[in-house]
Amino acid sequence: MHKYAQVIINFATTTEIDKIFTYKIETHLIGKVQLGHRVKVPFGRYNALQTGYVIGLQEEMEAVDYRLKAIAEMIETEPVLSLMQLDMAEFIVNYYGTSFAAAIDVILPPGLSQKPFEQGADYEDYIALTEDTGKVHNYISQNAHKKTFARQRYLLEYLLVHHKVLQKELENLPETSKSSLKTLIQNELVVKLKEEKTLIKDAINYTAFKSLNEEQFKAKQSILSMLTKKQYDTILLQGVTGSGKTEVFLYAIKEVIEMGGSAIVLVPEIALTKQTLERFQERFGNQVALTHSRMTPKERQKLYIKAKRGEISVIIGPRSAVFMPFENLKLIVVDEEHESTYKSENMPKYHAIDIAQMRMKRENGVVLLASATPSIETYYNCLSSIYQKVELNHRIGNAVLPEVITVDMRLELKRGNNGVISQQLFEAISTTLREGKQVMLLINRRGHSSFINCRSCGHVIKCKHCDVSMTYHLSSRTLECHYCGKKQPVPEKCPACNSKYIRFFGSGTEKVEEYLTEHFESYGIGRMDLDTTTGKTGHHKILEAFSLRKINLLIGTQMIAKGHDFKEVALVGIISADLSLYMQDFRSNERTFQLITQAMGRAGRSDTKGQVIIQTYNPEHIVLERIKYNNGELFYKEELKNRELMGYPPFANVFTVLISGKSEHEVIDAAHALTQYYRHYSQRGRGVFRIVGPSPAVISKVADEYRWRIIILSEERDRLLIFGKYCLQKFNTIQTRESIKIQWDINPLSMM
Ligand code: ADP
Ligand code: ZN
Ligand code: ZN
Repeated sequence: MHKYAQVIINFATTTEIDKIFTYKIETHLIGKVQLGHRVKVPFGRYNALQTGYVIGLQEEMEAVDYRLKAIAEMIETEPVLSLMQLDMAEFIVNYYGTSFAAAIDVILPPGLSQKPFEQGADYEDYIALTEDTGKVHNYISQNAHKKTFARQRYLLEYLLVHHKVLQKELENLPETSKSSLKTLIQNELVVKLKEEKTLIKDAINYTAFKSLNEEQFKAKQSILSMLTKKQYDTILLQGVTGSGKTEVFLYAIKEVIEMGGSAIVLVPEIALTKQTLERFQERFGNQVALTHSRMTPKERQKLYIKAKRGEISVIIGPRSAVFMPFENLKLIVVDEEHESTYKSENMPKYHAIDIAQMRMKRENGVVLLASATPSIETYYNCLSSIYQKVELNHRIGNAVLPEVITVDMRLELKRGNNGVISQQLFEAISTTLREGKQVMLLINRRGHSSFINCRSCGHVIKCKHCDVSMTYHLSSRTLECHYCGKKQPVPEKCPACNSKYIRFFGSGTEKVEEYLTEHFESYGIGRMDLDTTTGKTGHHKILEAFSLRKINLLIGTQMIAKGHDFKEVALVGIISADLSLYMQDFRSNERTFQLITQAMGRAGRSDTKGQVIIQTYNPEHIVLERIKYNNGELFYKEELKNRELMGYPPFANVFTVLISGKSEHEVIDAAHALTQYYRHYSQRGRGVFRIVGPSPAVISKVADEYRWRIIILSEERDRLLIFGKYCLQKFNTIQTRESIKIQWDINPLSMM
């Protein structure tokens, strides 16, 4: 019998030092407390009761400490964490270096209170007729003459036929009322029963599946053969945009359901369209459910329970859906696997693909990554035969990849056009709309003008709190900082020299919209960016209008680039390919390649050939060249060579430390002091670690906080994580500085 329990205290989610505490199990709880139980334990000097999780049990202890406290009570009768979930938590702790409490926090559904979390079935109220039907008939004949009896009579006659009916259903019958039901209950003619909700799973709708083309069929066969092997595997389904990838993994899910298993489908949050969801529901009916960040904690808890009880077989959702507690999980699909939204920005900073692989290794299942533009890491893993690759190289039906034209904006300027839209793009928009087709324009920046400067002295108006220039927003006629959200009025004079000549430079979605409205208003113009998509239905409204052709010209940020399948789009314009090319991040080439390729993927998805026009000040840029000549393979090979040369991922792992605080000199000081620790201890690592910095972060000030960073690289992930945290802890214990915040991450996806 287990007499001692190892307990993780719930509140330690934010601190990185989380200890495991041992508690006694008193006689009345022996045999009851199990792994994964949520318990209340006395904690600290005043023995205040805290919530904790049992993560270990022990029969005896070598030396029993008489001061050991005892578990006060169990919160639930059943453990809240299964063994599978405890394994996941342990993986997170070891792989991301976070606390156990933080790991558990991300695995369990949000909003669990101190109250017991009931994971049992849902119950429903039924109304049944009494066994004594003689009594019922008597009652009817006694009351038949009363005018007010009609409703009661109707109910009784209904129940004489159906005997037991859902209370909700009864109350909805038009000829009855709640009060007449109440009277019948009072007179004991009917009784109320609570019964487990019966769930009838919809059957798979086989007719909804499309017959696959040859290429899709082959892809499907290879995936199914790996699924039926019942061994862990990661497969990359690399298919050009519009090649029917979704259709292929729908078949894989069908196979899994037929095997009695379940599947998780991860989608980058913003890309999930109503269309996609409908494609799933059409085939799997109520066996599929959707989860998303705008659901309430209650709704998410309900879904969690349904998954745990096997009442659904497929869940579609963002990265956190990877934790869904399915028991017989056989497949995790990661759609648009290259998206950076799969990496969490909060502790624990997990990547959904890592978790998916850990789970599938444990369950002997398959991770299926799908993308037209896989991440460099994934591409490399295929080259190294760590992943299998399955390809789709052709678009569905007669659709072909669009023609790509680059427009040199320097020449445009020489010709005297200093507007946002080149002559060539303008004409193409005009022709496309006139021919009754649709246009999408991508501009990777919201707002109107991205910087405002003085013509006399060149002063650029920056946010007072951040090291970034302010963006002008036309709708509110204010300047807005996209980093801290602060707004301010447009100054009438230059704050530096008092000149009245202030000009607006750079363009965002609003400016493009403003300009094009002048010319093409009658065709219907829509704008989709963070400012127009607030609220639950923001996205859907705009996309619906585009799909119904109320809008024919859609302008937007990267939101419009992804996933959508609109058949009538014949032209995609990329207003400025340069905006993301020059981010100071080793991934900027990769990101630009992905973004432009995805945006291009929206053009020409049916019989008419599509066209893509890319405006740039740098048409010779290697990324644009590779895109223009449809040379994706070459792009990946060259990029890998660069990364190897520079010693960046996937050839190394990165540990980043961000030091921030209100006082610039304290931040610089701390950054240098901490770097000394890294340099000192790395000498023992015999050259395994490469230390870069300290240096100011790309955005060196945000919301009045100065930011510096240190980067440490190493081929050995495990050692890097331990080393990165070890030095940090040393530094923290010796030089605690209240005014300095230190954040760290292993293999972050953004170097901002
Ligand atoms: P991807 O995920 O590669 O972008 P989708 O699976 O969304 O591609 O397919 C693109 C379009 O082609 C969708 O409208 C889809 O319904 C259609 N489609 C896919 N496969 C087939 C098929 N075998 N036969 C007919 N239409 C198909
Ligand atoms: Zn000035
Ligand atoms: Zn700001």
